Amino acid sequence: MRVDGPTISFEFFPPKSPEGEASLFAAIGELDSVKPNFVSVTYGAGGSTRERTIKIACDIFEKTGYRTIAHLTCVGATRAEVHEILRQFQQAGITDILALRGDPAQGPTAPWVTTPGGFTHADELVEMAKSFGSFEIGVAAFPDLHPAATGFDQGIEVLLRKEQLGATFAVTQFVFQPESYARLISELADRGSALTVYPGIMPVTSYPQFMRMLDMAKGEIPVSLMAQFDRHRDDPDSIRELGIEVATQVSEEVLDAGAEGLHFYTLNSAKSTLEVVKRLGVRDY
Ligand SMILES: Cc1cc2nc3c(=O)[nH]c(=O)nc-3n(C[C@H](O)[C@H](O)[C@H](O)COP(=O)(O)OP(=O)(O)OC[C@H]3O[C@@H](n4cnc5c(N)ncnc54)[C@H](O)[C@@H]3O)c2cc1C
Repeated sequence: MRVDGPTISFEFFPPKSPEGEASLFAAIGELDSVKPNFVSVTYGAGGSTRERTIKIACDIFEKTGYRTIAHLTCVGATRAEVHEILRQFQQAGITDILALRGDPAQGPTAPWVTTPGGFTHADELVEMAKSFGSFEIGVAAFPDLHPAATGFDQGIEVLLRKEQLGATFAVTQFVFQPESYARLISELADRGSALTVYPGIMPVTSYPQFMRMLDMAKGEIPVSLMAQFDRHRDDPDSIRELGIEVATQVSEEVLDAGAEGLHFYTLNSAKSTLEVVKRLGVRDY
C-alpha cells in the first residue's frame, strides 16, 4: 500500500437512523482500503446534529483510529453554549475541529442574524477553540468566493485572520473550477500563509442530490460542465460515470496546481470515491 502520495480524506454526515449508521460504517469499511489520512463529520444545518456529530465522530475514531475532525457551527448558539460544545468535544477525545459559522435557515445568501450572545463570524469561533489549547483547528475556504463575500481579497483576508487566530488548515467548498483553487492557494502563499488548503472533491452520484447541494451551497460550476450533467439527468448510471470522470479530472488539476491532498465529499457512500482514487493512481491497491 503506497501512502506517501497526496493526503486523502473523507467527509461524512451523521446519519439519522440506525440503518443509515450501518450503511455509513459499511462505506467506511470499504474506504478503509485507501487508508485515509483523516476523516471529517459534518454538523447539521441550524446546529441540528450536535449529539450525533459527537457520537459519530467518536465512534469512527474508536472503530478506525483515523484522525477525525468534527465540524462545528455557531448557528443558533450563544458563546456559552458553543464553549460547552467545545468542552464536550474535548472530553470526548476529539482533537480536530472545523470551525464554521454555518448558514441562516434561508440559505447562504440570506442575511446573517447573530444569536443574542452568539458569534457573528467563524473567526470568533477559531479564537475560542484555540483558547482550549488542545484542538487543531481548520476552517472553510471558498475558491469561487463565499456567496456573501464582497470579493476575492476579502476571502483572502478572512483566511489570513483565521490563521493568525490559530487555524492551521482549511477545507474548501467543492471544486469544479480548478483554476479558482489554484488562484486561492497562490494568493495565500504570496501573502505568507502556511495554511494547508485541502480542495473539496465531490464525485456526483445523483442528479437531484447534486442540484440540492449546488443550491444549498450556491456552488459554482462551469456552464459547459453543467450542460453535460443536464444532458444525462435522467440516466443515473451516466450521471455516476460522469461524476467519476469529472472528479478525477478536477483532482488531477488541483494536484498539479500544488494541492497537498484531496478531501472527498463522500455523501456517506464509497463506490464513486474509491473509483476516483483508483483512477488517479495515488494509492496502490
Ligand atoms: C469545507 C466546508 C465544510 C462545511 N461544513 C458545514 C457543516 O458541517 N455544517 C454547516 O452548517 N455548514 C457547513 N459549511 C457551510 C458554512 O458554514 C457556510 O458556507 C457559511 O456560510 C460560511 O462559513 P464560514 O465558516 O466561512 O463563515 P465566516 O468566516 O463567518 O464567513 C461568512 C461570511 O462573512 C465574511 N466574513 C468572515 N469573517 C468576517 C469578519 N471578521 N468581518 C466581516 N466579514 C467577515 C466572509 O467573507 C463570508 O462572506 C461548510 C462549508 C465548507 C466550505
